[in-house]
Amino acid sequence: MNSMIKSKVTMRLAIASCLFFAANSLAELPDGYWIQEQSQPILDATLRVTLDPDLSHLTGTEAKAVAELIAAGRIINSLYETQLHGQSAAAKQALLKLHESTNRSRATGNLLDLWHLSHGPIATTLDNARLAFVPVAAERPGRNFYPSDLTREEFDNYLQQNSDDADLLLDLRSIVRRASKENLLADIMRLGDFPAVDALHLGLRERLTALKADRDSLYAVPYALAFAPELREARLHLNAAADHVQLETPDFAAYLRNRARDLLSSNYESGDASWVSGDFGGLNVAFGSYETYDDKLRGIKASYGVSLLARDDEASRALESAITGLQAIEDSLPYEHHKTVRTKLPVGVYNIIADFGQSRGGNTATILPNDADHTRKYGRTILLRYNIMMHPDIFESRKKRFDAAVDACCRDHLTSEGGFNRTLWHEIGHYLGVSRTADGRDLGSALADYADLLEEMKSDLVSLYAAPALRAMDYHDDDALRAHYADGIRRTLQITRPRPEQPYQNMQLMQFNYYLERGLIAPDAASGLLRVDYDQYHDVVTELLQQVLQLQYAGDYDLAKQFVERWNYWEEGLHGKLAERMLATNATRYTLVRFKALQE
Ligand SMILES: [Zn+2]
Repeated sequence: MNSMIKSKVTMRLAIASCLFFAANSLAELPDGYWIQEQSQPILDATLRVTLDPDLSHLTGTEAKAVAELIAAGRIINSLYETQLHGQSAAAKQALLKLHESTNRSRATGNLLDLWHLSHGPIATTLDNARLAFVPVAAERPGRNFYPSDLTREEFDNYLQQNSDDADLLLDLRSIVRRASKENLLADIMRLGDFPAVDALHLGLRERLTALKADRDSLYAVPYALAFAPELREARLHLNAAADHVQLETPDFAAYLRNRARDLLSSNYESGDASWVSGDFGGLNVAFGSYETYDDKLRGIKASYGVSLLARDDEASRALESAITGLQAIEDSLPYEHHKTVRTKLPVGVYNIIADFGQSRGGNTATILPNDADHTRKYGRTILLRYNIMMHPDIFESRKKRFDAAVDACCRDHLTSEGGFNRTLWHEIGHYLGVSRTADGRDLGSALADYADLLEEMKSDLVSLYAAPALRAMDYHDDDALRAHYADGIRRTLQITRPRPEQPYQNMQLMQFNYYLERGLIAPDAASGLLRVDYDQYHDVVTELLQQVLQLQYAGDYDLAKQFVERWNYWEEGLHGKLAERMLATNATRYTLVRFKALQE
């Protein structure tokens, strides 16, 4: 009996390894993994860019700090993938293993590229759908910020009935969990393992221990506790980087130490305060959880990212002195509740050494921090990511699409400098205009999932609104003004209908529709290609900006919703046709950015 079983087992093993061998040679993949025919079309539409900036100006100690910050960045990168999908870590391991066991087949290599492009196991298809390409659960709007089965409706009802807990549940840097026995126990245990987190979160232990286990109840834990093991590792590297630069750039060292402690406290004030105006020498790093774009359930939870940057000192100084007259631009904006703006904005021109987590991708510029109080007290820093903004291959791809949608009249108006200026003034746009509602709430909590859309739209419009003033103060000449404007039109062109949860693409589509209805752009009667009526530009932009500023100031969710529904539409005969034209150019749709500093 025993031996018979044994021989059967041996036979099964033999058959299994035989099948496995066959799978190897054909690179067939287990269920749930996309085959090459599924991944290839997306990768064929992907532009691959490797950033390799000149770092020869860094000092020896700065180079050592870079190595530590890269080590911290790698930790944050996997943390971010976990924020997006709870099965990321295991799925990545399985995929790497499969890649080895198929002798690094093309099919699995493609999936690793897709992983890289998508920050995890869910890819955006050419039809703009979000699908898993390895065997994991489907994507959820709440990603991994909330319990997997929590709906927006249940969450909103719960908040209404438990308004005392709302602040904690809605916190930018907290995870929402169901109050199951296992969850509570695990969190209380972890608090014991991380006494520093315990000490810095007064009342957390009492709150957790007082909670009754009940799956219908929700509770929040700070990121500092939820990700305590990963953040501890990251902090060690931040402090080591600070040690390296301590003597040379004490401001940078102080910032790194403060930010390391912020990760422990979940309160970013010390790091934000020492970041914005510090004198950092040849480096800078945006580090932590700030942006809320990934939370599609309610748009309030921040994702982790790191952007490690080398400063171009000469270009930064030149730009800083060129940006003047901001108060005059603020005072001219079409709304009444003007604020006092700092006369000097910290703006830097940077080359990206490496990005991690949420920061990774084709992002061209960043303004941080976002917190309205920190902004008021300390200002914000604008980080222009020069080697991606001005990358010739990225511009070429954009230009191809622009040329396919726009009449010959206007094609030459698009330049990479125009894109640089429009983007720079978009970031400055975040500095100007409404930062709180009339009754003092911050825009994120007042406008929820419309907050990002309106804030980005405002900034796009402020950039375009400011362009004539920039001409008047000779910041622009005529060509630069037109290039700034042309890039504003390019920005609104969509190659696919946005999904509801894409704030950038939707606000761009809304601008497009507004410009079209108001005659700023019009399809040529014969060719259907767009012509731009530059004479109308300022009036149309002013009108739309006025509406956006009013909506932000009112902070009324329903009004925002009505506005979005009014302008967010897609007609196959118009938008679809233009999209078809742009797609026919075969210009790339996605950008997969790699970094020489990471040996990629
Ligand atoms: Zn923006």
